[in-house]
Amino acid sequence: MRAHVVTFGCQMNEYDTHAIQSELAGIGYSFVDDFRQADLVLVNTCAVRGKPVEKAQTLLGELRKEKLRRRGAYTIGLIGCLAQLPEGKRLGEKFGVDIMLGPGAITEIVAALDRGRFRSFEFKHELQFYTPPPPRGAVSANLTIMRGCNHRCTYCVVPATRGPEVSRPADDVIKEAHALKDAGVVEVTLLGQNVNSYGMAPGTGARRALLDGYPSFAELLRMVGRAGIPRVRFVTSHPVNFDDEIVEAIADTPAVCRYIHLPVQSGSDRVLKRMAREYNREFYLSRIRRVRELLPDATISTDIIAGFPGETDEDFEQTLSLYREVRYDAAYMFIYSEREGTPAAIHFDDIPREVKTERLSRLVDLQKTISLEQNLKWVGEEVEVLVKGPADEQGLVQGHTRGNHVALIRGELEPGIHRVMVVHATPNRLYCARDASQGFDPVEPRAGIYRLTSAL
Ligand code: SAM
Ligand code: SF4
Repeated sequence: MRAHVVTFGCQMNEYDTHAIQSELAGIGYSFVDDFRQADLVLVNTCAVRGKPVEKAQTLLGELRKEKLRRRGAYTIGLIGCLAQLPEGKRLGEKFGVDIMLGPGAITEIVAALDRGRFRSFEFKHELQFYTPPPPRGAVSANLTIMRGCNHRCTYCVVPATRGPEVSRPADDVIKEAHALKDAGVVEVTLLGQNVNSYGMAPGTGARRALLDGYPSFAELLRMVGRAGIPRVRFVTSHPVNFDDEIVEAIADTPAVCRYIHLPVQSGSDRVLKRMAREYNREFYLSRIRRVRELLPDATISTDIIAGFPGETDEDFEQTLSLYREVRYDAAYMFIYSEREGTPAAIHFDDIPREVKTERLSRLVDLQKTISLEQNLKWVGEEVEVLVKGPADEQGLVQGHTRGNHVALIRGELEPGIHRVMVVHATPNRLYCARDASQGFDPVEPRAGIYRLTSAL
């Protein structure tokens, strides 16, 4: 029995795919790279923007053709966030999908295969967390600490696809961290839509009580930091819950990387309010100031949406001015994508696409300038790089620093942690050498490799 699993979207989907593959391997499946050679194809989907939905739709069209060619002897599964939404259910019917599992039900895959045609969209508490075996031979791994989101950002489908927040018991998190360490993992990323509200009682806002028996996120960071894994990361933070205790825990825990991804979405108070982000510009900047005070060497990145409904030129100028004030090292920049059923899609009018793309390209230009200035500061410094393997550029290996810079090193280095010297920088790369005399000719980045994550 051969399976092919396609993953769209975030690290959480990658983690879920890994769990599904472990379940399938347990009942005798092997994995192939081409869907035409498989008996079972699972599409693990993302629904956050229109573009990943379009990609899933195109793939489902191909899979339906393959199923017809094989006279039905082919099993297709649509799983993850898109499956949970009405949009996904329509696509499932249209393309003759056999199995549909929402993000809370993916571990029902074996039961689903037994039945042939199966649909489950429940969030069963006991099935939400599982401990997949550590990925074989991997130097870094993800570890889910919570699922779901209690916020209600008006543009976002995540609360509808992943349900309310549920935190995983700390003992299980620590046990999995130890298992990863024993398997040779040297970097673990703690995952959740809003990891900062780990362990908190239902609701939103900064001052929520902790659930019985749960540590706070700051305490959990300290606990995972003692597990003996050299690098601990976490995504994603929400400014409202990113409190001083968390910044202090990062400062006090050597294993925790000084890399903060703090999505801002907009620099305009008016837009933040329409997005229901629960903070204003000044509050966000107070969080950044605290990071700069306690972690002066931290790198900071963000998510920004350009062209939210009703965003004026003046609002957008405020996003640019906030960007200049924070001086982000990197950013994931998106144009607003209207998503069916969200409050923004129901109540607000989308703005013209040309306006959104023009704003996005101004933002990208600013990001390139600032990222280059930030990166040039590292030239001449020794940094720690976690090498993952060969880079696309010949003769180089690729990895990332503790600050999450993509780093390229000349020569052959084994996967793992290495100390190297930064000898050249571009807006989104640090070029490094094992000894400083081994310089680099200026290398310009290839087109299209900026962190312009999506134009849709
Ligand atoms: N929970 C995280 C937070 O609040 O920052 C991020 C989760 S979301 C999957 C990742 C990013 O996608 C968001 O930070 C936002 O910038 C972007 N995003 C979400 N919905 C979007 C939409 N409708 N259009 C464009 N970008 C969107
Ligand atoms: Fe979506 Fe907002 Fe929740 Fe992030 S905090 S997942 S953007 S609703």
